[in-house]
Amino acid sequence: MSNDVQDYHKSLKNFLTEKKWFETKCSFCGRIFYQKNSVSHRLSCGWKEKNEKQPFANLSKRKRIKNPKQIHDIILQSFDSLGFKKTLPLNIAYSKGKTDLIIAGVQIFDEVIHCNEKSKNEKIFIVQPCIRMQFQKLINSEEGISTSFINICTEVTNIEFKEHLKIIDHWCDVFSTLGLHMNEFSIVIEENFEDWGTGKFPIFKIFFIYNNVELGDASYFFIPKKNKEVVIISDIGFGLERIVWAVNRTNSYFDMISPWTVVCNKELLDITRTLSLLALCGVIPSNNGPGLQFRRLSKILSEKYYRQEIFLIVSYYFDYWANFIKPSVNRDLAILSVRLEVERFINLKISKELNTPVPRKETTEDYLNRLIFNFNNVNTVDFKKTIKKCIK
Ligand SMILES: [Zn+2]
Repeated sequence: MSNDVQDYHKSLKNFLTEKKWFETKCSFCGRIFYQKNSVSHRLSCGWKEKNEKQPFANLSKRKRIKNPKQIHDIILQSFDSLGFKKTLPLNIAYSKGKTDLIIAGVQIFDEVIHCNEKSKNEKIFIVQPCIRMQFQKLINSEEGISTSFINICTEVTNIEFKEHLKIIDHWCDVFSTLGLHMNEFSIVIEENFEDWGTGKFPIFKIFFIYNNVELGDASYFFIPKKNKEVVIISDIGFGLERIVWAVNRTNSYFDMISPWTVVCNKELLDITRTLSLLALCGVIPSNNGPGLQFRRLSKILSEKYYRQEIFLIVSYYFDYWANFIKPSVNRDLAILSVRLEVERFINLKISKELNTPVPRKETTEDYLNRLIFNFNNVNTVDFKKTIKKCIK
């Protein structure tokens, strides 16, 4: 197998040389990377370096902004013309894999890998919503990061390496069409071993970095199945929101994915974004799996950011996700489910503070109304004071 990896490396090198990419040693991390034979040579690959605040500041500004949906449509049409069929993404709520939440488009092949289902020779295009909670701690300190995002993927099984390279070439053409010129890219190659529960296998990955921002990667691998057969997979995926950021070259990654009329910190935006996605996918708050994330994020909103405006932001993000994914839940119900969970924490606080009956599944407004109408001699001044204390 390692001989194979060397062969891939060789054919990739030939492919890149043909396309006028040349090898450079990164002065920062020592990795070998590829860049175009352009006038100004970059010294470092930019991969896994902390994202600068404004990585695109030195590039010329865009004449016209493109929104995420427009960019998605351009990519979709381009792969459609190549015979890729758009396939429904996996619902993040029903992951059977090793993780609680769907994290990659390639999980579309989970049935093939884990369940002995026959792999079909299809060229698949997936717009896969992903949640990666481990990014949460970086939201306020780094740029280009969100805990939920769209991964736009092309997935093909039983494919030869040279065909995999052709798809990569097509992705490069799409980027050029979008105004992301190859001169601004560096490419880093990584050979690694992974194990997805069916045994160790080598994976050959190529990372695409645009002005120090990683946009995505292209992997090629032979993964063993439980019945000892092997599936060959070409798995290429790019973060839509990062592409949007790079195409528009705005100062902040959040500029194109936030409501214009709301000025608030990135953590609040990120949490409501992810909560909206969970609700749209039909996740219900619970004490395990995706429902636990729903509960945890709602708790943070109730403790740090509670105000009525957050539910408008939830509706904004519901509409954002609905551009790309068919909602499993109707819009009003999705927004209500977030509200009920956020306000459940508020209601518990109020109940403790006022020593009142435990809240039901109800909004804070409904709970307070119920309390007011059920008690005699309520001092509304004290009542309002306590509420203020609980929702601040
Ligand atoms: Zn480097």
